[in-house]
Amino acid sequence: MLIHKNFNQQVENILLKMTKRKSTDKTPEGPSKRPNTGHWSGGLVAATEDPKLVVSSDNLITVIKDGYPKAKHHYLVLPKENISSIKSITKDHLDLLKHMDKVGRELIQDVGFKIGYHAEPSMQRLHLHVISDDMDSPCVKTKKHWNSFTTEFFIDSKVIIDQLQSGGKIKLPSKDQCKEYMERPLKCHKCDYVPKHMPDLKKHILKHVIP
Ligand code: AMP
Ligand code: ZN
Repeated sequence: MLIHKNFNQQVENILLKMTKRKSTDKTPEGPSKRPNTGHWSGGLVAATEDPKLVVSSDNLITVIKDGYPKAKHHYLVLPKENISSIKSITKDHLDLLKHMDKVGRELIQDVGFKIGYHAEPSMQRLHLHVISDDMDSPCVKTKKHWNSFTTEFFIDSKVIIDQLQSGGKIKLPSKDQCKEYMERPLKCHKCDYVPKHMPDLKKHILKHVIP
């Protein structure tokens, strides 16, 4: 599995160099991870059957470690029900989303975590991100990686639940708005620092990380 993962990471790097994708967060992680087992965007469902990634499960959900964590701690909570993404959520899913939120919060040992959904997910099967807010990870490589967790592209789970509860449906940012979030200049998520580039930012954030 480790060899497989290293291989896939190399393929990911090659793909990153070769492709300049236009969509908001189509990181080429999936296709490289399982090249011969269907479309790459289905990789999360396969990951829920990987004992190395599964953290816990119950009759409604599976918790996995994110395969390419974008912070020191990064989990995904996936429903067992085949819900393709946040875009297909209706008020009928409210109890499930509350359960996913509760499970996500139980994973957190201390403050400094964020729990939420990407406005335009790249991977299929609804998944709730539970991520520590250090953003300190070798897998954070691109502006899209950075902005997808540090701008309004990341929607707090509580906001989604509140919207469903009060209005019966959720309101996601438009395609153009998502594009704007992704293209925003890099900025530290903890202070006003504006880095020159990604390596600069990755160096800078270390000063916010408590050892
Ligand atoms: P999203 O942009 O919300 O669809 O996020 C998808 C998440 O899935 C990202 O944080 C990826 O690092 C993660 N991911 C992608 N492929 C896999 C995989 N095969 N196994 C585990 N996690 C993955
Ligand atoms: Zn800072």
